[in-house]
Amino acid sequence: MTHVEHVIVGAGFAGLCAAIKLQEDGEREFLVVEKGSTVGGTWRDNTYPGACCDVPSQLYSYSFASHDWSKSYSPQPEIQDYIERVAQRSGTLDRFAFDTTMEHAAWDADAQRWEVRISGPEGERTVTSTTLIVGAGGLSEPKLPEIDGLDTFQGELFHSARWDHGVDLAGKRVAVIGTGASAIQIIPEVQQVLASTGGHLDVYQRSAPWVIPRNDRTYKGAEATALQRFPALRKVYRTGIYWAHEGYVPAFTMVPKLALPAQKAAEANIALGIKDPALRAKVTPQFAIGCKRILRSNTYYPALAADNTELVTDRIAKVTGNAIVTADGVERPVDVIVVATGFHTTELPITEHITGTAGHTLADAWRTTGMAAYKGTTVPGFPNLFMIVGPNTGQGHTSMVFIIEAQVAYIRDAVRTLRRTGYAAVEPNPAAFRKWNADLQRRMKRTVWNTGGCSSWYLDDQGRNTVLWPKATFTFRRQLASFDLDAYDVRKSA
Ligand code: NAP
Repeated sequence: MTHVEHVIVGAGFAGLCAAIKLQEDGEREFLVVEKGSTVGGTWRDNTYPGACCDVPSQLYSYSFASHDWSKSYSPQPEIQDYIERVAQRSGTLDRFAFDTTMEHAAWDADAQRWEVRISGPEGERTVTSTTLIVGAGGLSEPKLPEIDGLDTFQGELFHSARWDHGVDLAGKRVAVIGTGASAIQIIPEVQQVLASTGGHLDVYQRSAPWVIPRNDRTYKGAEATALQRFPALRKVYRTGIYWAHEGYVPAFTMVPKLALPAQKAAEANIALGIKDPALRAKVTPQFAIGCKRILRSNTYYPALAADNTELVTDRIAKVTGNAIVTADGVERPVDVIVVATGFHTTELPITEHITGTAGHTLADAWRTTGMAAYKGTTVPGFPNLFMIVGPNTGQGHTSMVFIIEAQVAYIRDAVRTLRRTGYAAVEPNPAAFRKWNADLQRRMKRTVWNTGGCSSWYLDDQGRNTVLWPKATFTFRRQLASFDLDAYDVRKSA
């Protein structure tokens, strides 16, 4: 059986960052297992029209690989191109196995290592590893809505994250289900295509989101030249953007009134984009701003107000072979249904495929404790398992790449610690794990995510927010700056 020091699952921003940083430490024996055919993760998968990052690119990129971005908010192809370039330059790609799935990883207590079964183009094989680093992403498994008859629909139907570019929308009747971060980027693009081809768009909204302007701009002239020539200037931009975004944290976690300017901006956005009072009322959210992710768009409301769009707020009762029927009995014929209904976030499918010391899976463990980790990274009973973008590391207001780098720094230091001490394995002790999570959940009670009057995918079925980090992101980075061995139970080498 082949042994590698590290198996890294996923080649998105997280897995690639882990590979690059481990290699910088001389850790060359790793295997990155990626189910897709290239790097990029969510940015490879989400190719829907209008796909764009709503965090400015200067911040939504690695601190160690700045880039000459063309716009303040980069479109998906530019981000994907960036990740591919960084990967190429890193000299790590020879250890990536693409089109390969991690079928199952189990901790072998005798050998004190992970036994990882993978399947790819060359069939199925098992490798062993000292660590298992999971960067599989929190938004990688599309969630389909549970709607009666959806599976009987005879037209085209696809999820926003699996856009079917073979389907020509021209002149069609299209329905978009959902009005979240993905939908509000898709809707203006689809509406334009349909407007110019005699097609029609129905948008099915369950709850209206808060949407502030995005004010995207292309870097031009002297600014573009300066950004191209002086990487130091990109750093200045990055720092400014970081602190501007961090300004949201007190509003989300302590003083909701601080979110009033954002609410005013969102209300002005509605007023600017929509003239009809009835439609304005329909799109005005019924919960505190920040309770769900604040979205950014200048084109969403005009698209809803367009003549060829209908915003439907009645609950969907069922889907038939060729129509969507709402609870009021109205049947709207449709050719193409786009489900922009989000992802499995609080019951991550990969956790069914990782078995720890007690012989049960991470999913089983989390059925008891709720989705929880120590520092969002490690879990008792799962030695040398390190998660990136694990429980309570999510951000609604800033760049996940910042969090990813903080977690990778921690993992890197954990690996150095294993090398230095000669320990075979570490796992967080249950007391440290409990204290960390009790503190998080105590803080969570005061946040707008729990008190803002919305139901969101941040909350699990017990109402616990297991997704977001409830403090400043620089606090997160500080807490993970070095590996705290004293919070861990250690296993000596056999
Ligand atoms: P989402 O935010 O979870 O939104 C899903 C939408 O579908 C919501 O409007 C939801 O309504 C609706 N929905 C779910 N089930 C439904 C059902 N059964 N019937 C009717 N409507 C239903 O998913 P997403 O838009 O794909 O975004 C997910 C996350 O991806 C975002 O929060 C963000 O973190 C990330 N993202 C980021 C960007 C970016 O620019 N950085 C862009 C896209 C996505 P309710 O609100 O009522 O639940």
